[in-house]
Amino acid sequence: MSEAISKTEIFTRKPRVAYFSMEIAMENNIPTYSGGLGVLAGDTLRAAADIGVPMVAVTLVSRAGYFRQEIDPQGRQLEHADNWDPARYATRLQAAVALDLEDRQVWVGGWLYVLSTRVGSAGIPVLLLDTDLPVNDPRDRDITHHLYGGDESYRMKQEVVLGVGGIAMLQALGFKLMGYHMNEGHSAFLTLALMRRYAYPVEDLRPGESPYDLPQVRELCTFTTHTPVEAGLDKFDYSLVRRIYGDLQDLGTVKLLAGEDKLNMTRLALNLSDYVNGVAKRHAEVSRKMFPGYAVHAVTNGVHPSTWTGNPIAELYDQHVPGWRHEPELLSRADRIPNDNLWTAHQQAKQALVDKVRELTGVILNPDQPILGFARRMTAYKRADLLFTDLARLKAIAREHPFQIVMAGKAHPKDEAGKQLIEALHAHMRDLSGEIPMAFLPDYDMELALLMVSGSDVWLNTPLRPLEASGTSGMKAAFNGVPQFSVLDGWWVEGCLEGVTGWAVGEDSPTANGHDAVALYDKLEKVILPLWYDDRPGWISVMKGAISKNAAYFNSHRMMRRYATEAYLR
Ligand SMILES: *Cc1c(COP(=O)(O)O)cnc(C)c1O
Repeated sequence: MSEAISKTEIFTRKPRVAYFSMEIAMENNIPTYSGGLGVLAGDTLRAAADIGVPMVAVTLVSRAGYFRQEIDPQGRQLEHADNWDPARYATRLQAAVALDLEDRQVWVGGWLYVLSTRVGSAGIPVLLLDTDLPVNDPRDRDITHHLYGGDESYRMKQEVVLGVGGIAMLQALGFKLMGYHMNEGHSAFLTLALMRRYAYPVEDLRPGESPYDLPQVRELCTFTTHTPVEAGLDKFDYSLVRRIYGDLQDLGTVKLLAGEDKLNMTRLALNLSDYVNGVAKRHAEVSRKMFPGYAVHAVTNGVHPSTWTGNPIAELYDQHVPGWRHEPELLSRADRIPNDNLWTAHQQAKQALVDKVRELTGVILNPDQPILGFARRMTAYKRADLLFTDLARLKAIAREHPFQIVMAGKAHPKDEAGKQLIEALHAHMRDLSGEIPMAFLPDYDMELALLMVSGSDVWLNTPLRPLEASGTSGMKAAFNGVPQFSVLDGWWVEGCLEGVTGWAVGEDSPTANGHDAVALYDKLEKVILPLWYDDRPGWISVMKGAISKNAAYFNSHRMMRRYATEAYLR
């Protein structure tokens, strides 16, 4: 890293939007993300760097990463620490701030990582907060080590460091800020720090009057919610809050804002943000029902074009749709790409996946048969096992039209159901062997994600409605001309044009969940596989539909432009 960008000063001249996220996928070798939320955060910042939206990001350094996944011979997930060395990628911040946590002073230092997507631009500064400092009590040095690790009190300390420590660090470094964007509720404690900053002098108050300039705080804050179920929201007992955070400045006000019984991070963020959004139109509808009375906008997610397009296809775009990296809407002209060239580029991407599958698992796939790809966090609602509901039917379909399956995904170490899903997938793999070639790639990360979304022929997604807030891997597939076959939930409600950009599994109805397996088999058997085998021009036309109608729209640049104009500059 050059001296010029090793210091924060060059980033403090113009006002910026501070983007807070518990996880950010900055690059593949930095394991500070667990899944879609972190990848989205990274793509958001990559788009800001491309377009020139002035931002500064705040997250935790997560030195021990999320975890590295190994699969044992029985198909069980083993978890290993995934330590990384921030000094290899980032420079130490020239500041530290002190917080009182559990009656101890905890110093928060950190690192500057510069996220840069093009030569000649300064990039976006990312502050990685770090409590692993020799001055700290040994009990506090690991607060920022484990992404989503530990118990409730550990999580709460992390969230206080992120929100309150982050605000203090931005101030200590001299950042000028025009707004604060909370990516999910984990950082909502930042509103408490802002309330304290915008408090009226006590002597000016009339009895019963709130001491805080809440409208001022609201004007500065944007909140993006990602969780469509009440049970998934972060909530803390006030007794825990008191033990860790100390006395809240004004418990009465905080309870009004964050909930009477427990401190609900989503409520706190909702009540102190002028602009609130869900991550797809359907998700915004679901959120409005969950939180009646709030204006929840919809900014449908998008993925970063050049990060998520495999090389052979990206070269084709450079040739036939120049400018697509900066203006991905140009991909609406994908029809300009000659069919043969698109097919050849896809086959190259597919060969790269076939090679990787062989290297990692020994499974040999045939590049001349279609590959169904599925990869996501292994958690119950994503229903990774739906495809295997009726193995006899699946085998019968494959006898007619052979296909192959590649899967990947990590389960959170405490998600027993998710881990059992991985075991079950391995059991299915054994049952299918000799009939349907199948591989499970261990240690899903951004690099495997790109190989899979570009090298598969059909990208499968089968979540339980309405729990997929957005889903983004299908958008990555679209950038590679890989059509999605998915339940109508999250972004697919907007993205699916039947037979044009991909296909729907089942109906768009809250009661369809129980019928999805049969619907999936029927369409795979009668529509998708016959099209792949018998009508190559027809298939390529769907590939082009995915590119021209979905990649052209569901990209991070459109998303960033909307946040900039509708949320940050409102
Ligand atoms: C894109 C991505 C995800 C999110 O995929 P979904 O479709 O939203 O489930 C998760 N993990 C990694 C590594 C990714 O690249």
